[in-house]
Amino acid sequence: MLRDRYDRKVTYLRVSVTERCNFRCRYCMAEKPFSWVPKENLLSYEELFSFIKIGIDNGIQKIRLTGGEPTTRENLDELIGMIHTYAPNVDIGLTTNGFLLPAQAEKLKCAGLRRVNISLDSLNRETLDYITQKDVLEQILTGIDAASDAGLSIKLNSVILRGINDHEIVPLFEYAKEIGAQIRYIEYMENSHAHETLQGLRSDEIIEVLGKSYPFIPIDRDESGPANLYETPDGYRFGTIEPHRHDFCATCDRLRLTAEGDLIGCLYFEGAKSIKEAIREGNIAKATQILEDVVFNKPEKNLWGIENIEISSRAFYRTGG
Ligand code: SAM
Ligand code: SF4
Repeated sequence: MLRDRYDRKVTYLRVSVTERCNFRCRYCMAEKPFSWVPKENLLSYEELFSFIKIGIDNGIQKIRLTGGEPTTRENLDELIGMIHTYAPNVDIGLTTNGFLLPAQAEKLKCAGLRRVNISLDSLNRETLDYITQKDVLEQILTGIDAASDAGLSIKLNSVILRGINDHEIVPLFEYAKEIGAQIRYIEYMENSHAHETLQGLRSDEIIEVLGKSYPFIPIDRDESGPANLYETPDGYRFGTIEPHRHDFCATCDRLRLTAEGDLIGCLYFEGAKSIKEAIREGNIAKATQILEDVVFNKPEKNLWGIENIEISSRAFYRTGG
């Protein structure tokens, strides 16, 4: 079992399979990066899987594939299949913008994918076009249908930005409820790769808006997730993810691996250790030692909650969010 110096158990590994993306969301990759990591520097699926196996053997129970946009890397089902065959009980999830799900949902489910978190920030074509800098709404909605038809469990992620999509808090809630998907409103996390004028709504503002339209009560947090959860009288659950909250990191159970093989203890900080060399040498003991070091040295908390807001220089599209 992996434990950090604050006695937090680490059981969840997020793996970014590519930093590349087919969208340019203003809060994540407002502009195309000056250069992409050269392909030869990326870990192959076999190399990623070698490390994932070490993680599973040391107590990782939940894996989420992310990016960049993970579905833009070819044959993602192969990596899912490797993990699922090795450890059928490990919970494999995917975080995606949904654009390529119409073609891939069924294949990914058959390979062993259980759940999918789809980012959807607006139900208005022009607004979503403005946020993602691409005309995507229709295809994302088709992707959501495809995921549902494939039998995947679906959550929706929405980042609410002041003056941009803050009038859509209720419509997004109603859409999610109608399709039976839990919506989680993620507070915008300030970072140097985002468009500089953006301002996010805090969760208490979002909850206040929703409270004017629907009754709901807070319920206990799901142990396996970072969201604060709420429930309506008819049993629909939704959540908020509040990285600015002072105690957000107290239950953090996760590590992040980039497509280049950097193992990261916290989304906010630059610190990372590369497992690439150890994996390419086939040196399991060395890779395990790096894993234990990164877990042990996980920072206690991020700095997003600090007054006057600290801005992280981490690129979400590299770390996988
Ligand atoms: N491309 C996929 C997607 O958009 O779902 C996966 C990668 S994306 C980096 C993962 C998650 O991070 C998405 O839900 C996205 O909305 C969220 N995200 C990205 N930048 C963010 C920011 N600055 N603040 C809050 N959430 C952010
Ligand atoms: Fe791409 Fe996801 Fe970042 Fe949007 S949030 S630019 S879809 S990686």
